[in-house]
Amino acid sequence: MEIKKKIDQLREELRQHNYNYYVLDQPTISDFDFDMKLKELQDLEAQYPEFYDANSPSQRVGGEVTKNFQTVAHESRMYSLDNSYSKEDLEDWEKRIMKLVDGQIEYTCELKYDGASMNMTYENGRLVRAVTRGDGFQGDDVTANVKTIKSVPLQLRGDYPDKFEIRGEIILPIEGFRKMNEERVELGEEPYRNPRNTASGSLKLQDSAEVAKRPLECLLYSLKGDQLGVDNQFDSLEKARQWGFKVPKEAKLAKSTDEVLDYINYWAEHRFELPYEIDGVVIKVNNFYQQEELGYTAKAPRWAMAYKFKAEQVSTRLNSISYQVGRTGAITPVANLEPVELAGTTVKRASLHNADQIAKLDVRVGDEVFVEKGGEIIPKIIAVDFDKRPENSELTLYITHCPECGTELVRKEGEAQHYCPNYNGCKPQIIGRIQHFISRKAMDIEGLGGETVALLVNAGLIENYSDLYELTVEQVIPLERMAQKSAENLVKGIEASKQIPFERVLYALGIRYVGETVAKKLAKHYKSVDNLSNASQDDLVNVDEIGVKIAESVIEFFDSEENNHIIERLKGFGVQLEMSSESLANQTNLLEGQIFVVSGVFEQVSRTELKKLIEDNGGKVSSSISSKTNYVVAGDKMGPSKREKAEKLGVTILNENEFLQKVR
Ligand code: AMP
Ligand code: ZN
Repeated sequence: MEIKKKIDQLREELRQHNYNYYVLDQPTISDFDFDMKLKELQDLEAQYPEFYDANSPSQRVGGEVTKNFQTVAHESRMYSLDNSYSKEDLEDWEKRIMKLVDGQIEYTCELKYDGASMNMTYENGRLVRAVTRGDGFQGDDVTANVKTIKSVPLQLRGDYPDKFEIRGEIILPIEGFRKMNEERVELGEEPYRNPRNTASGSLKLQDSAEVAKRPLECLLYSLKGDQLGVDNQFDSLEKARQWGFKVPKEAKLAKSTDEVLDYINYWAEHRFELPYEIDGVVIKVNNFYQQEELGYTAKAPRWAMAYKFKAEQVSTRLNSISYQVGRTGAITPVANLEPVELAGTTVKRASLHNADQIAKLDVRVGDEVFVEKGGEIIPKIIAVDFDKRPENSELTLYITHCPECGTELVRKEGEAQHYCPNYNGCKPQIIGRIQHFISRKAMDIEGLGGETVALLVNAGLIENYSDLYELTVEQVIPLERMAQKSAENLVKGIEASKQIPFERVLYALGIRYVGETVAKKLAKHYKSVDNLSNASQDDLVNVDEIGVKIAESVIEFFDSEENNHIIERLKGFGVQLEMSSESLANQTNLLEGQIFVVSGVFEQVSRTELKKLIEDNGGKVSSSISSKTNYVVAGDKMGPSKREKAEKLGVTILNENEFLQKVR
């Protein structure tokens, strides 16, 4: 009983902190303390599976895999909204509805969040189902994925009805979207186009642990149910807030169309200050009774109206197209525009994505083009004003050779991007790769920044990252903005990076598709760069979570004589190209392919140490017993139901000593 209490208390605490952080935006503990508490809860839950709760805060990390999403009918239909675009449209609407209802009409004005709509059912304060809008009558059950969204309450607070539905929009805030794209670009992958599509795509991922990693949010706007205890929209929003939902405070009550227009005008101007994208405003008749009187047309409520902002759009001349080369050799076409004001900033450049996009738009130098600004950092060209096309304009032919080094470009089947294959001789690739090498998550070289790298390359002092280790203070002093002291720091920083462990060095090498996590996996499996470079493709894809794309890229990297030469040089300088003997001493393959569940309290080692022992010896730790489990390591006070389950499934139970003998 004591344990149950402890678990309940931890859940309650974590729930509160989640709410403070993700709904109120006012955290009261550090991330570290939060993680510690979560870890404590996870450990207890693993140890006492009889207290499993599908809505525990621990479930937010995901892990459930959905192969096929079930189709579920909505209890009440999810309608669309009618659109308006002008003051006149709105006044027409008001006239229409005035004829249909008695009395004064008040309006709730809300922002129109641009994401994917979601219908969630709560029973007895617990989230039981989350379903996409689908065709309005039925949608896909994406509950496992929605549970990982931190601002969605799994357990409500306060005085909520036994059963109700709540509707909202799943969105990806602009900042989170930007970060996701930064990471993708760093891995040599194509960035996502816009936050809305990325948000709705995320909901359909099969692995909920992947969804958990994305900074999605859920903003709520509508309650459906018999006993809501309110009779109007504005108050219902406040109720939802009290029950723990994230309901933006920008909603406002308006007593007249003039006040509605004020709201619209205000947000048309200030929308870019919001942390997320909106594409308009939604105006709703506030009184529920009046709403009922007004009812629905075939596709939308008569009592609501969306006011769509004109997309912030301008037209300007396309002066030229230039082509940038990234660190992985990927070519990005960039439109150079006649400078123009757009959403408060001067725009000079727009992204054109790739060759297909240029062909699709049929955009040509000299064209007048429409430019739009969304969540992306760079605005995009959405169309050409064909009426204004100059008579002598020429079809845009995509470049065939690298603008930096002249090498013929390649485009792999199924990929959108062209690449410059001149890996070791193309300047932006050389500079980009060294910049990646020294970056914080890689070799973390203090005293050396990206601009200095470019200076060093341009001055002919370095050609690849291994050359860094031969730089002398005298050589770098003449560089721009260098002095004795900063030159010394730079050389010292490079020297210090020789201590960076193998897994990070492997990431630093900048092998395409080998990001931080993949580098860790490969380092752990192969233990040295020599083993890795000798691995065959078959061998590589047999490593957990390594796919064909990564395997091919690794093989290609080590096929290059130049790369091997650079690696030999790094070795010679003392960079860590294998696991240190210290971490290696504890690593074996003794438990390769075996799945363990750890339960109970141990005498000679802590639970954390025990789990580390399993992993260091090639085994896997799982939190719950299933038919796949090979062993349960049982300590003191192992949960009785866990033992029962293990026995029923015929899983071998080891005590502490029996386990330790396996690995010592
Ligand atoms: P549309 O897709 O243009 O027909 O617009 C209807 C959609 O707007 C709904 O399905 C909702 O997902 C979305 N929406 C965004 N914000 C709101 C809001 N405050 N109230 C109602 N619907 C909204
Ligand atoms: Zn090139």
